[in-house]
Amino acid sequence: MTNVFQEGLQRLGLSGELEAAFLRYRQELLEWNTRFNLTAIKDPEEVMTKHFLDSLSLLAIYSQDETTLLDIGTGPGFPGLPLKMARPHWRVTLVEATNKKVTFLRHMVDVLELEHVEVIHGRAEELGQKPAYRSAFDLVTARAVAALPALLEYCAPYCRVGGAIILPKKGELQDEMVQGKRAAAQVGAVLEADTVVDLPGINDGRRLLTWRQQKRCPEQYPRSGAAMAKRPLG
Ligand code: SAM
Repeated sequence: MTNVFQEGLQRLGLSGELEAAFLRYRQELLEWNTRFNLTAIKDPEEVMTKHFLDSLSLLAIYSQDETTLLDIGTGPGFPGLPLKMARPHWRVTLVEATNKKVTFLRHMVDVLELEHVEVIHGRAEELGQKPAYRSAFDLVTARAVAALPALLEYCAPYCRVGGAIILPKKGELQDEMVQGKRAAAQVGAVLEADTVVDLPGINDGRRLLTWRQQKRCPEQYPRSGAAMAKRPLG
């Protein structure tokens, strides 16, 4: 198995030496998972591919060596923490609503001795109204958090003009894409690329949707969670 992970690292142009840190991350994740519900993926090999390589897949299309990344609804760290491990110069902010996951994230940041990682316990729609976080990030991502219209409303307020929002997705997306494109126009973003993930051990039609932030997101977004649920964009 480790060969599959090594092959994935190689395909992404990453050093095989990273594997040791990822094995430690997996060990902690699976151990904590027996006490807290952190991930549905319990098979150790699938953690390496469906969590770690899948998170790292963003590097196939985003090549900046220095960047500010925000990961919304990161759960136990995906995709933000693997990206930080592979790109030590990035400044990474992880936002997560569930306290036990935040506790795990802070533990992992300590264990892996990562610098310039901010872990925030909060909801994206609340933090996104704080001036310090608006238009503040080069790259914003969120994996498996919501449908595209809500994801774009969460992400766009944080993204600087000219920055990118990269959303990993899988499965049938035809209707969601129509609504997503309309939502994007409302929050000042536009779809730039739709890339199939081509990495070993990942063969379930995963894609990366890249949206470019063309203008500042209007101040009224993100709305409250209740308003977003009642009147979704798109
Ligand atoms: N991104 C991780 C992954 O791909 O494995 C976790 C996905 S999990 C299905 C969704 C996570 O998003 C949960 O941990 C949940 O607490 C968090 N979440 C959902 N809505 C959120 C919000 N509005 N703000 C912050 N976190 C949120």
